[in-house]
Amino acid sequence: MSAGLARAQPAPVQPSGALPALGDTSELSAGAERRLGDRIASSIYRDPDYLDDPVLGDYLQGIWQPLMKAARARGELGPELEERFAWEVMQIRDRSINAFALPGGYLGVHLGLIGAVATRDELASVMAHELTHVTQRHISRLMSKQSQQMPWLIGAMILGALAASKNPDAANAAIAGGQAVAVQNQLNFSRDMEREADRIGFSVMADAGFDKQGFASMFEKLQQASRLNDNGSFPYLRSHPLTTERIAEVKGRLQLDGVTASPAGNTDAGNARVLHAMMAARARVLADPGVDGLRPLVADAQRVSQPAAAAAVTVRDAGALYAGALAASRLRDHALARSLVGKLKSAPTPSSAVAEPVEWLALEIELAAGNTASLPKLGNTRSWAALWLQARADLAAGRAQDASGALQGWVTTHPKDAVAWQLLATAYGQQGLTLRAIRADAESRVAQLDYPAARDRFKAAQDVIRSGREGGVGTNSYIDASIIDTRAREIDQLLREQALQEKLDR
Ligand SMILES: [Zn+2]
Repeated sequence: MSAGLARAQPAPVQPSGALPALGDTSELSAGAERRLGDRIASSIYRDPDYLDDPVLGDYLQGIWQPLMKAARARGELGPELEERFAWEVMQIRDRSINAFALPGGYLGVHLGLIGAVATRDELASVMAHELTHVTQRHISRLMSKQSQQMPWLIGAMILGALAASKNPDAANAAIAGGQAVAVQNQLNFSRDMEREADRIGFSVMADAGFDKQGFASMFEKLQQASRLNDNGSFPYLRSHPLTTERIAEVKGRLQLDGVTASPAGNTDAGNARVLHAMMAARARVLADPGVDGLRPLVADAQRVSQPAAAAAVTVRDAGALYAGALAASRLRDHALARSLVGKLKSAPTPSSAVAEPVEWLALEIELAAGNTASLPKLGNTRSWAALWLQARADLAAGRAQDASGALQGWVTTHPKDAVAWQLLATAYGQQGLTLRAIRADAESRVAQLDYPAARDRFKAAQDVIRSGREGGVGTNSYIDASIIDTRAREIDQLLREQALQEKLDR
């Protein structure tokens, strides 16, 4: 929502306290806002710069879930809104520093933001701020009575603004005409909304157990960038102008809370910093900097000397080695990637939170090297990142049944995980289980809200059933066929409802 949109409209300053609600008649209903959000999300899913990396995804969830829990406990997030909205964090492969709330509870996070913040707490401060825009229904309040009549136009405008934020040259093509610009300006949060997102976001992040100092240091970072007038790499600043009031209020809040030094000295905080350095490094590599961007990361890692046997790896070295190893792997220098991750592995790590991502990286490097003969089994696959990597390793090593077993369990509890369904389709395909493979593929389309494509897949599966080629399904074919028929009917129904709703919303 606030992604790279034009400069905020100066709004009349309200006295502090909660913003006045505009009343039900002029607010967009939660259901209508979710439908608008779904429409935007389904376009983002198809954008080549949308990324669903399980390792970064788990890391973001480790911040997002505590924030949601805190918002719930504080009464900012009621059961009705929680039920109606998506509450989904989307990764955007973009090196610029930005995060944005979309209608319906979707949150976009640029990899550039993850790569640039110094701590998990700084990232939490931005996410808490954006979460608050959603829980306080700022988006629906922006939709005036007039703009309510054209939510689909607004959806198109948001997508145009998102595209423009990625490529400044596309701005004029994507957003043409005075009326379009007028609508776009309406979508900028008011100054009061920004201050409310700061105020409530600050409390939410503190209640969630993050270091409040992260809020202040994130502000300092933005302030520095705004002094350098670095608008190109900081679209977040364009949508979040740093007013003197905002800065003063954050400083005042910290003083009021009696926050002193950050607890960087204790082990937990130390582990969190090392983990963050590695995740920021991953974000920098996955942001796709190209060969010229990857080479300096490798060179930087090669300068890190072998850590002393007893000494834990420093935050800086952990980040450099992680980035260098992954970058070397991407450049297909597998031997170097192995040696760099080896240095990272040899350092003693006091916590599994730090040791496991290193183990995953080592496995990822072997997978990229095509070393299928000796792919190790991970010790613990409780997290999605580990399960995903283990399933990929199992597939590469010809253990498709292990992969499908684990993935089937995962999608039972996480039916909206498109990456899991897609991998499951591959696993079933390798076992010659055609019907199940097509169904898993269809479910991955459903998860990405592409119902027409899902319907095509289910129809293809029904054709397979009718033709009698059941592709090795064997004794389960009857059950598989009846699941497919049920799901095909459900998707048909969904498509009919969607078409009807679109007519009503227009
Ligand atoms: Zn904001």
